[in-house]
Order: sequence, then structure tokens, then C-alpha cells
Amino acid sequence: MMCGEYVVEGFQVCPICQKRYSEPPALSRNHLGMSICPDCGTDEALEAARPMIGGNLTDAGWAELKAEIIEKTHRRQ
Ligand SMILES: [Zn+2]
Repeated sequence: MMCGEYVVEGFQVCPICQKRYSEPPALSRNHLGMSICPDCGTDEALEAARPMIGGNLTDAGWAELKAEIIEKTHRRQ
């Protein structure tokens, strides 16, 4: 499977989590020019912001906080 390849019209496969998605893709910060699913886009954005919002958390605590934020993002849509 190629990165960002269109499998069915309107669907793309996320190269990071391999999930099929139809939402507008997010642009990866870590892989220039790569289109990824909105979840992975949020994940990358949160990772980039970790020093500001979770710099003193353990990896487990950080994973928990991140999951919480991603879930809240979903509920808003
Ligand atoms: Zn993804």
C-alpha cells in the first residue's frame, strides 16, 4: 500500500495506523508532505506539544492524557 494512496474514491489509508478514513487528511509534521488520518494528525500535534502540556508526565501518564484529549476532540465533531 502506497502512502496516501486512494483505495476507494473518497477513502485513503493512513500510512501510520493503516486505518481507512474519508475525512480530510491531516498533513504529517514528522513526514513532510505525507497525508495521514486526523487521529494521527492530532497525535503528532500532541507529541509536538508534549514539553508544554505533559513534560513532567511519565510515558504512561502522557499516553492516558493524550487518549483523553483525542477522545474529547472526537466528541466535539
Ligand atoms: Zn492514522
